[in-house]
Amino acid sequence: MEKILIIDDSPVQANFLSSILVPDYEVTVVNTAKEGLEQAKAVDYSLILLDVIMPGMDGFQLLKMLQEEVVLRHTPVILITSLNDIQHEEQGLTLGAVDYITKPFHPAIVRARVNTHIKLHLYRSQIEREATVDQLTGVPNRRRYDEVSVQRWQEAIRLGVPFSICMFDIDKFKVYNDTFGHPAGDKVIKAVAETAAVMLRRGTDFFARYGGEEFVALILGGGSDNDFSHLRKIRQAVEDLHIPHNPEVSQWVTVSIGGITVLPKAESSFDTYLKMADAMLYDAKRFGRNQVVWTNERMEQRLEKK
Ligand code: GH3
Ligand code: MG
Ligand code: MG
Repeated sequence: MEKILIIDDSPVQANFLSSILVPDYEVTVVNTAKEGLEQAKAVDYSLILLDVIMPGMDGFQLLKMLQEEVVLRHTPVILITSLNDIQHEEQGLTLGAVDYITKPFHPAIVRARVNTHIKLHLYRSQIEREATVDQLTGVPNRRRYDEVSVQRWQEAIRLGVPFSICMFDIDKFKVYNDTFGHPAGDKVIKAVAETAAVMLRRGTDFFARYGGEEFVALILGGGSDNDFSHLRKIRQAVEDLHIPHNPEVSQWVTVSIGGITVLPKAESSFDTYLKMADAMLYDAKRFGRNQVVWTNERMEQRLEKK
């Protein structure tokens, strides 16, 4: 059931509104803008109904604050206004409200408008999800990676914590496709993605399909020793799937991984370090594949296999 938040200082009005929606939705009611903001941050609502005139912080101020929060920018807000309040309506719509409902309420109209906006919201969320998730593997796609990499890099600079960038590439995958066929190759890409994704599911981890048979992982705050060791485990986990490869090439499907841990500074460039991670991946291939090669900003290389 979709969740709706009602923010209205009048309990009578809020409860009446709630009673109109409650058969179809999971409704939460709060009576101040402050509580409204807290609730909206804590729970993923599909729609917010917001009274304009409230003591203390009013609906407009709250609407502005909701718009400033990145996560809440996509939650539609319907304003509750009085009948002869055209200026307020205009102001609210300009601030980004999707619609308004005038008092006194007509239950059928409230229901119809709410249903429409919930449908639009669900549709939009689905489109957004499809645009950022890789179809084959279900992990974030390159487009999502482009957004997240910038955010995480800035976050690491702000927090002053180490940041690791890791590039993965499936070994001798062209041979795999040539031997077993492209559909079988797709299954391998999926299996490798799932194996890595379950081992990179902390809030500070990010894992995406970079393209083709290549993946990228970003880890915030782990540090060189931890992350190098963790990526070796992931590399091993892929080998332990025991997916038979073409025996002329190798017994099992494996991945090579190149990584770098840096302490990002305001003046340092993510792209420079990404290229260094890629150079480590190239070395992992050169040194015999199925291994992790790591480095830091001083280019002190660490090898898994000598
Ligand atoms: P290396 O160990 O040096 O990485 O060798 P490789 O054969 O894996 O490298 P190469 O870059 O030559 O080949 C990558 C292959 O990955 C070629 C391409 O057909 C295959 N590939 C890329 N994307 C997909 C995909 O979505 N599905 C399948 N089945 N194959 C893919
Ligand atoms: Mg490749
Ligand atoms: Mg490859």
